[in-house]
Amino acid sequence: MKKLLIANWKMHYGPIKAGAWIRAFRRERLPKDVDIAVAVPFVSLAAARASLGRASIPALAAQNVFWAEEGAFTGEISPSMLKEFGTEYCLVGHSERRAHLGETDEMVQKKAAALQKAGIIPVICVGETEAQRKRGEANKVVRAQVQAAITDLKMDGKVPVAIAYEPVWAIGSGKPCTAQEAKQMHEVIRVVLQKKLGAGADEIRIIYGGSVDLRNVSEYVTTTGIDGCLVGGASLDPRNFGLLCRAANPA
Ligand code: PEP
Repeated sequence: MKKLLIANWKMHYGPIKAGAWIRAFRRERLPKDVDIAVAVPFVSLAAARASLGRASIPALAAQNVFWAEEGAFTGEISPSMLKEFGTEYCLVGHSERRAHLGETDEMVQKKAAALQKAGIIPVICVGETEAQRKRGEANKVVRAQVQAAITDLKMDGKVPVAIAYEPVWAIGSGKPCTAQEAKQMHEVIRVVLQKKLGAGADEIRIIYGGSVDLRNVSEYVTTTGIDGCLVGGASLDPRNFGLLCRAANPA
């Protein structure tokens, strides 16, 4: 399975800067054996697509979606609208959305299913808070988040899904979770996937996110059970993200 590296710009870069980032990133020497995507704000998808031209790397990802196809949902964006931009991936349930916008497990479940139906790979973000970890509840919390999110997912011929394990305390904090701690949680997640989805679960990539940078990326991607990384702050600079992608290359 190829490693997957996703840049998450969060709420950075409107269309002009997004276009410039894509053009600069395209000048980097990009590895062929790593799948690379960039999660851009909705308003920058068109500019990112235009700057890509005929190129398909990086793949485009959105940072959020609504679960209905159309209707009276002011301000929301549907999976098929994202598909029109050639969006291949979409983050769901990022902890910042859970914390600031009240995104619940039930909403994550509906969004993931709607994306899969539309042929977009949902990247389901899960992770415990620092308090939950301190109370020894990390496994239980993450297990419940994954179980809820995959309730309506199918593995028969549908687009795959990906899970991003992102401990909340490691996001943007400069305090990454160790590769061994991440590996242990990825094993917990893998068991949940296997129970629900059977053998197909082994095709699901489980990636790690939380203060990934140039110093630690190769340790994550060379650890068994870690299938790539979701990178926030360290992806804002296209050159730096290019270096991260190269560091994730197994060759
Ligand atoms: C993220 O945005 O999902 C993330 C992991 O951010 P950072 O790399 O900045 O911790």
